[in-house]
Amino acid sequence: MEQRILSRSQHPISRKAIDRAALNIIYRLYNAGHTAYLVGGGVRDMLLGRPPKDFDIATSARPAQIRLLFPNCRLIGRRFRLAHIYCGAQKVIEVSTFRRWPDPELTAYTCEDDFQLEEGEEGIILDNTFGSPQDDARRRDFTVNGLYYDVGSYSVLDYVGGTHDIEHRLVRTIGDPDVRFREDPVRMLRAIKFCAKLHFEMEEATWRAIRRHHADIAQSSLPRVQEELQRLLELGNLRVSLRLLLESGLLRDLVPNLDRNLNHLHDQEAFESLLDLYDQEGVPSDRTFSFAVLVLSLILDGDRGRSSRRHLARDFLEPLSDCFGICRRTQEEVARYLSDLQQLLYGAPKGRERGELLARPSFINSFKLYQMLAQVGAVSADQYAYWRECWENREESSWSRPAPKKALKSA
Ligand code: ATP
Ligand code: MG
Repeated sequence: MEQRILSRSQHPISRKAIDRAALNIIYRLYNAGHTAYLVGGGVRDMLLGRPPKDFDIATSARPAQIRLLFPNCRLIGRRFRLAHIYCGAQKVIEVSTFRRWPDPELTAYTCEDDFQLEEGEEGIILDNTFGSPQDDARRRDFTVNGLYYDVGSYSVLDYVGGTHDIEHRLVRTIGDPDVRFREDPVRMLRAIKFCAKLHFEMEEATWRAIRRHHADIAQSSLPRVQEELQRLLELGNLRVSLRLLLESGLLRDLVPNLDRNLNHLHDQEAFESLLDLYDQEGVPSDRTFSFAVLVLSLILDGDRGRSSRRHLARDFLEPLSDCFGICRRTQEEVARYLSDLQQLLYGAPKGRERGELLARPSFINSFKLYQMLAQVGAVSADQYAYWRECWENREESSWSRPAPKKALKSA
């Protein structure tokens, strides 16, 4: 791969967009005679004109040298030590030494080691894992994540073809996708995350490799899988995330129940419209609500949607929550939305029962979900009009008209 250097006039990154604390770390590394670049998601996002989530730094300084330079620094990681530099109460900047991807045969190094970040453990530091900036770029996951920004020369350094893929909006592995996904199957979920987050397409060979290797996801550690799935919920592009999870085969390996459900929906179109609606209007980063939207696929699944709360929890919510790493409290909250929705759709609560339903704190969100079902035409207009009136007049207790019986249009 040809090296490409974009000078200041060839890219939109302005130094003003860079976090002050990250700049200070880079300058201190420079002053001590080291090379240091911004790397990863921060560079990618600045090139795209998006506000970066965080700034990572890659440097020629070894972990022990970094520690000497920064008193507010902790070294973490088992095999390969990363430095976390604490800047104030909230901010941590990750500084890693340029390294190459070691040959797993020679070092018994596994990718999982790379992500075991127990603090303070004495790791076996293999000197031959350190490398050049080029090596460091090549061991990263996707071309768009392998770019450096050199604060000294204001230029973007591209050793992996990332600038081409940013221009063409493509997620492509660095190197052979079969090898890269075998090395670390979590990268398959990360590929989907970046497509959903950046509104990029998956490059063809990368996609074909995911379709071949999806079953390997079972070898990855659950916390890493959960972390990536939770990020998908936070991104609020559920339509794309779910489509890619389904079509790749990954969803079948991860949560067979949800996969089956989505493949056998009575009203596929309504669910897809629901996802579109949520992606347009949803509250990004509201993980609970995104999770509830996923679970709505159950409600749209005619008979199953009527199962008892206990059955729904056991057969569906619990396995789904385990895989997504959803805590018990959120799980219970979503179970409440589901049972509220069941009441709206299939029950006909009257009098005190109805009053209690409308007064429940969870009902605001349940009603929001119900409204979304109505907006995509999954609820009859009569029924929706009735409940909307109940909701708008919930302070008044004089409601005596019975709820219309007809529930889901499709059921
Ligand atoms: P986000 O904006 O979601 O944080 P990011 O690209 O910064 O995206 P991180 O998970 O923060 O993603 O990782 C930082 C960088 O570390 C990535 O950009 C990539 O270069 C590298 N990286 C992370 N995970 C892997 C992996 N599994 N394999 C190879 N490189 C990885
Ligand atoms: Mg990041």
